[in-house]
Amino acid sequence: MPQPPRVAIIGAGPAGLMAAETLVAHNVKIDLYDSMPSVGRKFLMAGKSGLNITHSEEKELFLSRYGNNELLKSIVSNFDAEAVTQWMSELGIETFTGTTGRVFPKMMKASPLLRAWLKRLGSSGVTLYTKHNWQGWDDKDQLVFKTSDGQFTTSADATILALGGASWKRLGSNGNWTNQLNLKGITTTPFEPSNSGFHINWSDRIKNDFEGAPIKSIRAGIGQDLIPGEFVITRNGVESGVIYPLTPKIKQQLKNYDTASLTVDLLPNTSEVQLLTKLQRPRGKQSLSNHLRKTTKLSGAKLALLYEGIDKAILQDMSKLAMRIKSLPLTISGTAPLDEAISTTGGVPWNELNDHLMLKGKDGTFCAGEMIDWDAPTGGYLITACLASGKAAARGVVDWMEPQT
Ligand SMILES: Cc1cc2nc3c(=O)[nH]c(=O)nc-3n(C[C@H](O)[C@H](O)[C@H](O)COP(=O)(O)OP(=O)(O)OC[C@H]3O[C@@H](n4cnc5c(N)ncnc54)[C@H](O)[C@@H]3O)c2cc1C
Repeated sequence: MPQPPRVAIIGAGPAGLMAAETLVAHNVKIDLYDSMPSVGRKFLMAGKSGLNITHSEEKELFLSRYGNNELLKSIVSNFDAEAVTQWMSELGIETFTGTTGRVFPKMMKASPLLRAWLKRLGSSGVTLYTKHNWQGWDDKDQLVFKTSDGQFTTSADATILALGGASWKRLGSNGNWTNQLNLKGITTTPFEPSNSGFHINWSDRIKNDFEGAPIKSIRAGIGQDLIPGEFVITRNGVESGVIYPLTPKIKQQLKNYDTASLTVDLLPNTSEVQLLTKLQRPRGKQSLSNHLRKTTKLSGAKLALLYEGIDKAILQDMSKLAMRIKSLPLTISGTAPLDEAISTTGGVPWNELNDHLMLKGKDGTFCAGEMIDWDAPTGGYLITACLASGKAAARGVVDWMEPQT
């Protein structure tokens, strides 16, 4: 009996695992490789504070989160939020939708989902090889891996690369694979942090007393457009929440001016006029901080932010103080390191891929997930696109192999 064709999938994050799962329905032998001792480490990390796996908003709006990238949009459209929740339910994982429309597993963590997924893949005949670090191709075009037992080479009829981006290297996605592609004449785009934190030169007071403090119920933005949400103070700046969707604007300002000016409305539900009325109430012998606490409820980290680098004259002038509370300027001096980013852009540019995600310069080799150069905000859009592109690459393999099998 002829042997079924062999497909090698390298990288066992959400994209690679979904590629494997999609191929299971076809008559192929699937070998899944990962450099780490266990798989899906970034996926598990994503679940640490609640795995936001997709988003329930209306489909057109959902797809608009991927910008003008029509190919990516059509790929995601074929495995959209509804498909993601359906797939989870088939794995026995119930989901719930938060107030902002974000979709999570009911148990919040990624581990039950990953366990159920790996079990199903194992029982479907997918062979998993961990501690297999892909090193590229040898001169016979075989796949070369570094393992604890030395070098291992193997051939495959088709290969799916799902090697991830270049942040949180300790979880396996180190971006080193660009060298192997470059050696084959495939260009790659430099990695850049996305959905990342930014640097602010805080005073010691903020650093020492408010590192990790969430600044809730604010609006923030670059320029006039402020968006509601929250963010977290880090030792060297800010991250999370509203900061992530602001990433492109902040990066643009940093590029143009070396610094970016983040405006924060500390009390979005109170107008400047209302605020001024409150601030002008008789203060008696109270300190300004107590007065602010009592009249505006500003306290703790928000109050510390208000005082950060403040010109003393503003403290004497309630109208200026009200203005500062409504539009506090924070100067961003740079981007947090690539390795700390939630996601990265860069990697394989779309012009190196055909519509089935096959490398134009390497027949039979497909790409999926964050290793392709695309961007999306947090909100479940990242994992959804990784899953969808894993599926698309696997379908690409099937279509490509069909005439040959
Ligand atoms: C802290 C954090 C929180 C996040 N939260 C969310 C969230 O809530 N929602 C969301 O949508 N997204 C979130 N993300 C992003 C999301 O986790 C990633 O976008 C997603 O995991 C990328 O999937 P991937 O399969 O493309 O790559 P990865 O998950 O990075 O997997 C790539 C795999 O390839 C392997 N690999 C790399 N190089 C080699 C090699 N040379 N040989 C063999 N194997 C190799 C790696 O070991 C890894 O297992 C978060 C990310 C972080 C860091």
